[in-house]
Amino acid sequence: MTTDGNGNGNDSGNGSGRSDERVSVLGLGAMGSALADALVKAGHATTVWNRSPGKADGLVARGAEAAATAGDAVRAGRLVIVCLLDHASVHEVLDPLSRELAGRALVNVTTTSPEQSRELAAWADRAGIAYLDGGIMAVPQMIGEPGSSVLYSGSADVFRRYEPLLDLWGTSTYFGEDPGLASLYDLALLASMYVMFAGFMHGAAMVAPAGVTAGEFAAMAAPWLTAMTGSFREYAEVIDGGDYTVEGQQSLEFSDLGDILTASSDQGVGTEAVAMVQGLIRRQIDAGHGAEGFARIFESIRRPAQGVSPRT
Ligand code: NDP
Repeated sequence: MTTDGNGNGNDSGNGSGRSDERVSVLGLGAMGSALADALVKAGHATTVWNRSPGKADGLVARGAEAAATAGDAVRAGRLVIVCLLDHASVHEVLDPLSRELAGRALVNVTTTSPEQSRELAAWADRAGIAYLDGGIMAVPQMIGEPGSSVLYSGSADVFRRYEPLLDLWGTSTYFGEDPGLASLYDLALLASMYVMFAGFMHGAAMVAPAGVTAGEFAAMAAPWLTAMTGSFREYAEVIDGGDYTVEGQQSLEFSDLGDILTASSDQGVGTEAVAMVQGLIRRQIDAGHGAEGFARIFESIRRPAQGVSPRT
């Protein structure tokens, strides 16, 4: 394929996720390399750039072109993909290139907060850059494999135009024009994951003094927790319905975690992870809702207790 000065290609697409345009990937850390690799494997003309030398070598051997500078990479592609460390590094690399980026499509899959994504989108808008924000729900080894998912929000035009290409990395889900929404979903899903992981670690620590290995506990915990995720849908129906008195729910009083806390203390392990959940339950019981469903702890989180900073 040949490209003109603006990165426009003249070969024909093959209807399998390939567009006719050269794509540029800025940032070849573990994730950026995996994303670029998937593009190269699919036959996209791909230009890559990384701040530190050496990281492009493998990709170049497989068919990518290395750009000497970020500016050269941006000029090479109509679609520019950015996968750097954080919000600050994205600005550091892209701010001096706003003129070159004008008129191009920018897909930023660097992890940023929703507000940082909105800020980047506003910056891009002022510079005439079509901006799509992305949140990657996968580790590098999963890119292009089943189970990999990437969340997007921002420019609908960019998403629609490049959806087949984006699908090469995993299932693509678009949440709308608000550029902060993909990041919000990303971080909310990670929040769910980390609290669940802390629960698993707590259980593993509880059984450890009895001579149970973490591996033995994991063999029991994985199917148990997998089965329990089936209740998300029922909890969600109660939360969305706004009526925690619906018949058939496990009540907050029944959900008291006192026995778990006592057993944890008896085992000599920390109680913070379970005490956190107990605190959410107690607030609702103390407010007179003990007979209502466990899902009501959603209200303890949605409306933090006075004096509890949302940032602590
Ligand atoms: P790495 O630490 O492997 O790579 C970071 C990349 O950012 C490198 O290319 C590094 O360049 C570059 N970089 C950092 N600071 C600057 C700067 N000031 N100027 C120019 N380049 C800079 O991270 P990953 O590739 O794993 O992650 C990249 C993004 O993807 C992150 O936002 C991460 O949160 C997100 N992500 C990663 C996942 C993972 O499992 N790895 C999962 C989901 C999202 P250099 O080589 O020169 O240091």
